[in-house]
Amino acid sequence: MASGRVYLVGAGPGDPGLLTIKGLECIRRADVIVYDRLVHPAILAHARPDAELICAGKAKNCHTMKQDEINRLLVDKAGEGKTIVRLKGGDPFVFGRGGEEAEVLAEAGIEFEVVPGVTSAIAVPAYAGIPVTHRDFASTLGIITGHEKAIEGATGRGGDGEIRRVGDGATGRGGDAETGRRGDGPIVPSPLAGEGQGEGGTLRSRIHWDKIATGLDTIVFLMGVENLPNIVAELVKHGRDPSTPIALVRWGTRAEQETLVGTLADIVEKVESAGFTSPAVIVVGEVVNLREKLRWFDNRPLFGKKVLVTRSRGQASALSELLREHGAEPIEFPVIRISPPESFDELDAALDRIDEYDWLLFTSANGVRAVMDRLRELGRDVRWLKGPKIGGIGPKTAEAVSSMGVKVDFTPTEFVAEAVVEQFPEDPAGKRILIARAEEAREVLPGKLAERGAHVDVVTSYRTESDKSDESDRIRELLNSGEIDIITFTSSSTVRGFMSLIGQDVMASLPKQVTIACIGPITAETARKHGLKPDVVAEEYTIEGLVEALVRIMGGRSSR
Ligand code: SAH
Repeated sequence: MASGRVYLVGAGPGDPGLLTIKGLECIRRADVIVYDRLVHPAILAHARPDAELICAGKAKNCHTMKQDEINRLLVDKAGEGKTIVRLKGGDPFVFGRGGEEAEVLAEAGIEFEVVPGVTSAIAVPAYAGIPVTHRDFASTLGIITGHEKAIEGATGRGGDGEIRRVGDGATGRGGDAETGRRGDGPIVPSPLAGEGQGEGGTLRSRIHWDKIATGLDTIVFLMGVENLPNIVAELVKHGRDPSTPIALVRWGTRAEQETLVGTLADIVEKVESAGFTSPAVIVVGEVVNLREKLRWFDNRPLFGKKVLVTRSRGQASALSELLREHGAEPIEFPVIRISPPESFDELDAALDRIDEYDWLLFTSANGVRAVMDRLRELGRDVRWLKGPKIGGIGPKTAEAVSSMGVKVDFTPTEFVAEAVVEQFPEDPAGKRILIARAEEAREVLPGKLAERGAHVDVVTSYRTESDKSDESDRIRELLNSGEIDIITFTSSSTVRGFMSLIGQDVMASLPKQVTIACIGPITAETARKHGLKPDVVAEEYTIEGLVEALVRIMGGRSSR
């Protein structure tokens, strides 16, 4: 069998949007994905449903693989003729041991390709408003390991700042012989001394502190949090001004991003008193001061908020996109599924008599799609709908009508029944009106139109069912551990779907207050009926209105 190919792919620093297009294509195609623990789940969600996902990192529920095991796994799977993606945080060749993995593949004669990624060394400072170079402040940039691991067999997949120092003679590669220099680095005791890292804990640094301390304008350290006291001491000892600004940015580019700024003189104390932990990028240099002016990500109104977006399966969520633009981290949860009605008899009969109607009203984009699908199944197309005027209740509904190339004769500015009737372009009395909508929709609109003398026929064009989501357990866990800040509902059916999947008992005993946000009063009423207390109800019943309402009540609350 022909051997497969391994793609060493950089997943970027955290924000799933920072994956490259080529990386995404590889992930979509892969038979096997071997990923590190810092890789965002939203990136893995692009994998084929039948792809084998293997966690090589130290996530809560996954076993840590030794580098040798990873290497063997890549070679074995490639030997089976599979397409493998080795997915690594940031860029695979920046402190990710990607170089070593590529060497192993080359030695085994396995085809591989490197797909570079956005490295945390540059992107994480950027998300904190710190440009690593700047015409006025920094012309040079160094990216340095904060823990100098070079011991064969040590775990240090670069995940989380473990400190492994080079023991004298403990490494067969990259030691003094290779660099040809005498060990002029300082001798520093290993924080892990006594843990089998060599005798007596006296270790030699490969970093030329004397040269980098003052020779580089901006210095970025990865994996350096635990070793910060040493890093700072070396820089100052070798001449860097103690008043030099320094920033630590943890969980950069993600909702959890936190930044701590100080000077070389006071940062160690600040980190200690804040209990600041890895993973973090450390930036040293004048550019850190630019953050005050250039901060753009962690001061957005919904920054840091994790928002559960309940939606229907298979539909792209414009709400998630909008939330992300405001700094929130959306977590999508499919709770409903759009399916055909039990029977098409009603709809078919109404379509057969379509020219008897004065108006055809759609109340959702799903309704528009369902009618179009049915026409197609009947061997007809949009031309069949000529005759009645067409109304779309809500901007998305109107958009769906327009996208069929059909003019929308009426779309109200408000989307509740009362307003629809109020704004109806002609006197409804005596008019024949067909409403195509979901099976479980409310009766208010037909009733109001009938009160004004219209003859209204309501036909079911689709149903929304609770989804049998396999993600329910994960979402319940997130809710129970207090990780969700906000839950959004964009229709009554999402409320019903959500409650049937999660259960009232879970919602009644949440560990912290979760903000419930509803798109409009009808959805809010359904939420109340299910025992939820809506905190936010949009004034304009659109997703833009919903996000606006959230921004209004959450605005200014973030403090990181
Ligand atoms: N190949 C990766 C780096 C691997 S070393 C890259 O190019 O980004 C792992 C170190 O990267 C961590 O210890 C931390 O210093 C840094 N790091 C990676 N992602 C980070 C993030 N989202 N926020 C802060 N630091 C991060």
